Amino acid sequence: MKNLEEFINDKGNRKNSAKTKFDLLIYGVKDAPELFAKYTQEFKEEHYAFDNGNWGIDKNRLTPTELLLPGGIVSKLHIRPDSPLRLVESEGTLLICNNGRILSEFKFLPRPNFWKKTMKNGENPKRYAQMYGLNCLNFSLYSGCEFQDSGNGCKFCSVKATVDKGNPIQVKKSPDKLAEICQMAMDNDFLNYIIVTGGSYIDSDHEFDMHIETIKAIKDHLPWNGRIKGNISMMPPKNTERLKELYDNGVDNPSFNMEVWPHSAFKHFCPGKEKYVGFDHVVDSLKKLTEYYGPGKVWSNFVAGLVPLEDMMDGFRFMAENGIIPGANIYHAEVKSIIGNSTGVIDKNYISRLYSYAAELYSKYNYKPFFDASVLRNSLANEFYEGLL
Ligand code: SF4
Repeated sequence: MKNLEEFINDKGNRKNSAKTKFDLLIYGVKDAPELFAKYTQEFKEEHYAFDNGNWGIDKNRLTPTELLLPGGIVSKLHIRPDSPLRLVESEGTLLICNNGRILSEFKFLPRPNFWKKTMKNGENPKRYAQMYGLNCLNFSLYSGCEFQDSGNGCKFCSVKATVDKGNPIQVKKSPDKLAEICQMAMDNDFLNYIIVTGGSYIDSDHEFDMHIETIKAIKDHLPWNGRIKGNISMMPPKNTERLKELYDNGVDNPSFNMEVWPHSAFKHFCPGKEKYVGFDHVVDSLKKLTEYYGPGKVWSNFVAGLVPLEDMMDGFRFMAENGIIPGANIYHAEVKSIIGNSTGVIDKNYISRLYSYAAELYSKYNYKPFFDASVLRNSLANEFYEGLL
């Protein structure tokens, strides 16, 4: 049987892995309590620091957060009771099946090594950060959202319900603790990228200050000579001149995520972003960032499946024409989000056409999708761009 490295290097199976990831992201998988209990020691578990797409699952029971597919493609795992997909074990091999038909072999991703260490004050580092996919360190400065607190949260988001007292999560994280975490992760794991997200504050200047303070604190505790190799995601400050601070502090790919397009949909799905920041201000801020960064560095992410395809394509085209790389996660229902019980499975044809269009735009403008297929676990942008789908 292949070890983890051989499995990742099995490039001949990448096409089939991409196809399987497509199914995993559209349908999720059925719960597999016995399998998860058997392999509890071997997988990186979901730790509910921000979102929760696991329906009918007690958050205290450990479930894997992702699946690793042959060739190093990583898919997020969403547990849904009505999924046709199952995880089974046959003669020591782990398999993803659809109604008895084998789609692919898989492996669990192991826990990051820094999770096995202890912070200086005795705390568990898992309270602060996780690893996305194979090698992307991830944390949010605030595992909460004041927009949600004020009743104006994005309709697809579940952060307030997900992060509750039962979770071992530090809700607000100080720059010095995050610097310690980065150092621990760098010392114990291979890091290829980082993602820092905000949560959102009604006072976006405060949110921006927190980000800049954190970036300054962590950048020398990461392996990229002071660069932040990856994505800082937030809402923009009021004064767009301040955006230069992101560039000056070595952030490779800042993003303000539009989520949906056009303005009317933004107002509907993201009432807090509209009320406290504003669609026009987000768009202007993205454009302002490109004055410092040039084209093809600034990102904006969307949720694929919430608005008509033509609207999403308009949004993607607008971004690409303005020097901004558009990307999208495939919508999945979040437990206790406003639309979680009402918006079902997203049409595969919609997803294919959207990512094919994105791949066309990337080629036309010489852009690259975000990260890579071993990290971007809720998206197929890399798989379509690579021609695997
Ligand atoms: S701004 Fe929207 S997506 Fe971000 S944490 Fe708040 S509700 Fe969730």
